[in-house]
Amino acid sequence: MAKQQFQAESKRLLDMMINSIYTHKEIFLRELISNASDAIDKRHFQSLTDSSLVPENGYEIRLTTDPENRTLTISDNGIGMTKEELENNLGVIAQSGSLAFKKENQTEDTDIIGQFGVGFYASFMVASNVKVVSKACGETQAYVWESDGADGYTIEPGEKDSYGTDIILTIKQNPEGENEDDYDEFLETYRLSSLVRKYSDYIRYPIKMLMPHSHTKPKPEDAPEDYQPEYETVYEDDTLNSMVPLWKKDKKDITEEEYTSFYRSKFMDYMKPAHIIHSHSEGLTASYHALLFIPSQPPYDYYSKDYAKGLQLYASGVLIMDKCADLLPDYFGFVRGLVDSSDLSLNISREMLQHDRQLKAIAISLEKKIKSELLKLQKDDREKYEQFWTSFGYSIKTGAYANYGTDKEKLRDLMMFYSAKEKKMITLKEYREAMPENQEEIYYASGTSIDLLDKLPQAEMVRKHDFDILYLTADIDEFVITQLAEQDEKKFRSITAGDLNLSSEEEKKEAEEKSTANRPMFDLMKESLDGKVKDVRVSSRLVNDPVCLTSEGSLSIEMERVLNNVQSNGSHVSAEKVLEINASHPIFDTLCKLYAEDQDKLKAYTALLYNQALLIAGIPIDDPAAFSNAVCDLMTK
Ligand code: ADP
Repeated sequence: MAKQQFQAESKRLLDMMINSIYTHKEIFLRELISNASDAIDKRHFQSLTDSSLVPENGYEIRLTTDPENRTLTISDNGIGMTKEELENNLGVIAQSGSLAFKKENQTEDTDIIGQFGVGFYASFMVASNVKVVSKACGETQAYVWESDGADGYTIEPGEKDSYGTDIILTIKQNPEGENEDDYDEFLETYRLSSLVRKYSDYIRYPIKMLMPHSHTKPKPEDAPEDYQPEYETVYEDDTLNSMVPLWKKDKKDITEEEYTSFYRSKFMDYMKPAHIIHSHSEGLTASYHALLFIPSQPPYDYYSKDYAKGLQLYASGVLIMDKCADLLPDYFGFVRGLVDSSDLSLNISREMLQHDRQLKAIAISLEKKIKSELLKLQKDDREKYEQFWTSFGYSIKTGAYANYGTDKEKLRDLMMFYSAKEKKMITLKEYREAMPENQEEIYYASGTSIDLLDKLPQAEMVRKHDFDILYLTADIDEFVITQLAEQDEKKFRSITAGDLNLSSEEEKKEAEEKSTANRPMFDLMKESLDGKVKDVRVSSRLVNDPVCLTSEGSLSIEMERVLNNVQSNGSHVSAEKVLEINASHPIFDTLCKLYAEDQDKLKAYTALLYNQALLIAGIPIDDPAAFSNAVCDLMTK
C-alpha cells in the first residue's frame, strides 16, 4: 500500500515532536498508557451490554522490552481500532484534543509539549519507527499502522490474536557524544517501572511488565555440608502501578504513616509534614480531590527566587503537570501536594490552563481551604501553629505587604506578633480583645530583638499605663503593620513615633512650657547635630531614661535602617528624627547650665546624647571611634 501523507497540520506538529530537544521526552509513556487506559474503559463500557467482550483474564496494560531489537511495546486489551479508526485517529490530529492545543500555541514552545504532551504523537520523540497493531472488538481482521515520522504512514492488514492494541516503538539510537539524549533508558525495565510509578501510578488497570527477580535455587539433595545457596534471576510479572490513588481513599482508612511516607517519597522531604489537608470538594464549576501538605521547615531555597511553587495537577488520575503554579497564591507557595480533578482535559496546554475556569475555581477553593485549616490549627494547636509561623510567617507577611496590600485582609487573621505583656506570640485579634477600655491605640515597637525592645526607653510611658506592646523583630514587620493600618477600628501606633498622647494634660503643659522656655538651647543643640535631627525637645514619653530618638512622618527610624540595608544602589533614605530629652532627669539641668556657661561643651554633650540614643535603639553610630574618644575625654576631665 502506498504511503499516505499526514494532514498538513498534523505534519507540522509531528515535525515539532521529532525535532524537539526538550527534556520531558519520558512523558510519551504516560500518554500511551493513558490512551490504553481509555481504550480499556471503552471496552469495559461495551462489555456491560455485551458479555462476550469481557476478557478472560481481566484487563491489563503491558509493557514489553526487547533491547536487542530496540523495541518497547505498550499493549492493551481495550477496544482496539478498525482500519478506518487507525486512519482517522492516528492520521490526523484533528480527531484529538491535540488540535486545540496547537491552535492556542502558535509559538513552537517545546517545553509546553513536555508539560502536557500531545497524545499518541509524543511517541515520535523517542521512536524512529512506530507500529500500531490493532484489532477492534468484534472484528476478525487486525491492521497494522506504521510510520517513520513526518513523511507519512501506511496501513496494512496484519496478525493479532486478541482484541486490543499493541504500540511497538523502535527506540531511537543514542546520538554520538556526551551529554546527548539518552534513549536507551526507555529499554530498561527499572527505568520504565519508575516512570510508570511517577506518572501513571493511579491508572485504574494493572500495568504489568516482566521484571527480573533474584531467587535462591532449590538446595540439591546431595548438597555438601558447606553448601552456599545459589541465586538465579527469574522473570516474573510485576504490577507496576498501585491503581488506587491515596487521595481518593477515605481519610479514615489512611494511617498517618501512609500519609507521611507518601509525602516523603513524592515530595523528597525527609521531615514529616507539619500538617496534612486532605479534602474532597464537589463544586458547581469543578470537583476535585486535594491532598496538601505543609512542610515542617521551609525548603532551603524557599525564600530565594529559585523556588518554584506549585501543586501536582492530575486529570482523572493522570498527572498532567508537576508544578501547577496557578493553583497557589505566592503567600501559600510553601504548600506541597496535588489536586486531581475529573473536570480537566488531559491535553490541556499551559496557556489554556491559565484561562481555565475550572482551574481558577479550584485555586480559589484551595486557598480558602488552606486558610481555614491554618486558622483551625491556630485555634486548636497553638504550639504547632507557632512552629508553622516561624517557618512560613515571613511568606504570609510578604503576601500581605505585596501589591499595595491587595491581599492583606485575607491574611490578617493568620498574623502573629510577640506580645511584651504576654511574653509570647499573639494574634492581632487577641491583642485587640485584651485591650482595656481607656487604650486608644495599638502600640508596637520595632527593633532587631526582643531583649533590645524590652529596654527601650520610649516604652516606659506605655508600660506605666499597663498597655501591651507588640514587638516587631522581623525587617518586614513594621511595613506590614503600616499596611494593615488598624485592627478592629483601633489604629496601630509606633511607640517611637509622634505624640503618644499618654501624658496627662498637666504633664503635657509642663513639657510644652519647658520646651518653649528652652527653645534657644534646643535650637543650638539641633544646629550642632548638623541636620541629623529635625528637632530637639522635651520628652513626654520618658520616665527614667535621659534621652531617646523618635520620628515624625511616615518613615520610622527602624524602617530607615531596614531600607538602607536592602538598598544596594547606594541611595539612602532618612527618617525625620527628633531627639527627646527627659526634663526630669538631672542631665536636663546640666544642659541648661552649659547653655549659660559653656556652649562648646553643650555641643559636645549633644553629640554624645544623640549617639547614646542611637545605641539604645540598636542603630549603629556613624563614628564609634569619635564617640569613644569623647567619652574618654569626659572620664579624664
Ligand atoms: P487523544 O488521546 O487526546 O484523543 P491521541 O493522539 O493520543 O489523542 O489519540 C488519538 C485517538 O486514537 C484517541 O482518541 C483514540 O480514539 C485512539 N487511540 C489511541 N490509542 C489507542 C489505543 N491504545 N486503543 C484504542 N484507541 C486508541
